[in-house]
Amino acid sequence: MMYDVIIVGAGPSGIFTALELVRQKSNKKILIIEEGRSIDKRRCPKEKTKVCVSCKPYCHITTGFSGAGAFSDGKLSLSYEVGGDLPNLIGSHKAQEYINYTDKIYLEFGADTKIEGIENNEEIKEIRRNAIQAGLKLVDCPIRHLGTEKAQEIYLKIQNYLLDAGVNIKFDTVVTDLVIEDGIAKGVKLVDASTKTEEETIYAPTVIVATGRKGADWLKDMCTAHEISHRSGTVDIGVRVEIRNEIMEKVNTVLYESKLIGYPQPFNDKVRTFCQNPGGFVSQENYDNNLAIVNGHSYKEKKSDNTNLAILSSHNFAEPFDQSIEYGKQVAQLVNMLGNGRILVQRYGDILDGKRTWQHELDQTNVKYTLPDAVAGDLTSAIPYRPMLNILNFIQAMNTVVPGFAGRETLLYGPEIKFYSNKININDKFESNIKGLYCLGDSSGWTRGLMMASVMGVLMGKVLCEEK
Ligand SMILES: Cc1cc2nc3c(=O)[nH]c(=O)nc-3n(C[C@H](O)[C@H](O)[C@H](O)COP(=O)(O)OP(=O)(O)OC[C@H]3O[C@@H](n4cnc5c(N)ncnc54)[C@H](O)[C@@H]3O)c2cc1C
Repeated sequence: MMYDVIIVGAGPSGIFTALELVRQKSNKKILIIEEGRSIDKRRCPKEKTKVCVSCKPYCHITTGFSGAGAFSDGKLSLSYEVGGDLPNLIGSHKAQEYINYTDKIYLEFGADTKIEGIENNEEIKEIRRNAIQAGLKLVDCPIRHLGTEKAQEIYLKIQNYLLDAGVNIKFDTVVTDLVIEDGIAKGVKLVDASTKTEEETIYAPTVIVATGRKGADWLKDMCTAHEISHRSGTVDIGVRVEIRNEIMEKVNTVLYESKLIGYPQPFNDKVRTFCQNPGGFVSQENYDNNLAIVNGHSYKEKKSDNTNLAILSSHNFAEPFDQSIEYGKQVAQLVNMLGNGRILVQRYGDILDGKRTWQHELDQTNVKYTLPDAVAGDLTSAIPYRPMLNILNFIQAMNTVVPGFAGRETLLYGPEIKFYSNKININDKFESNIKGLYCLGDSSGWTRGLMMASVMGVLMGKVLCEEK
């Protein structure tokens, strides 16, 4: 079977590539191969079971049409300063231009017209003043909040648009290998996702890998097997903080999401806030290697009494060890082991007192934890000294920006690990050292968010439209 373009993975980067090709009337024969289901069939059983049942063969939160975007909070970051290193590859001006362009596409498919974080200038100034006093940088980033339920509606419309335009999407299908001959990409090998049988080879002169963080391990193997040029990426080790809305009220109202960066002593590593969810819910995502990782999201309508956000400490490795993904996995495994396979939660005050949190203590607090799966325990026994100290010092600094942030009842969940894929060495047209093999989105190591992944997809579509 022969196509013009094969896209592996139907996350935002993959689907925006197809979308741009269709919108620009490229007439290319496009195949998208996706391990998970179509968006209308994606269901996380936790809605009913209340606890994660570790779905097999894959987690419905990270897998299926629209990738990790479907059940995400759907916060589109509208600044080139947020969402990954793509601006270093294509230039910040171009990145911003295409964020604006891609944002318009989201609006066409029904995104809320409201943008958060652009009003209340005096109040933003005050937050910034406090941040500077605490040695933190407040990053300006307007946010368009889709909300989890709205994000699903928008991506369903995109899915139907692509299908109506004749894009072929193979769901429940895993790409197991790339077909590469003499340094040129020729196609992919695939199998049925559930039975792992019915191996098939499909050919195309253009193969686009857009497999997200979920596909990071697989892509690492592909890099080794086919000598795809890459370098070691960053790993973010962190916790998800949950706190009462009353404490977060000001930043929630003024900014919706406060993006703060610091370099706490003694290590001066980059530590930042990430993915803030006012009135949100702490969630769990499971990776194929049985790792339970904490995350968070918020709905447009359904609200909790709490705000959650991640605090992430960035780490790179070079000599003699350069496997940042492996490092992150080991940390996650250790935290999972202490939680007996579940997400661990600990009160900040207990960390200061050098003790674990007990379940009955958790039940007594003002902060009613929103992840019923979580189990009380001791994060400090599992998270290494360096990231743990970075996180604790950052929480202290945050207290100057948000009084009460470092309260004794503040909850810390772990592990929150961001396994950024190895960075694939690509040119400004996103082509790797293998001719015809392109790498996009979070799996390429160049993005880490919905908007930036979508932008990379749009630009990929434009590159392919230009080559006739
Ligand atoms: C719970 C959660 C909340 C989030 N909230 C936000 C947010 O509010 N704002 C934000 O900007 N970002 C958020 N993110 C991150 C965001 O979802 C990702 O950055 C974005 O989806 C990356 O897009 P992508 O196209 O690179 O990959 P993905 O969205 O990960 O999609 C990759 C797709 O490839 C498929 N795939 C993988 N391997 C294979 C294979 N071998 N064969 C076939 N298919 C394969 C996967 O099933 C998946 O569907 C969140 C992520 C999670 C998990």
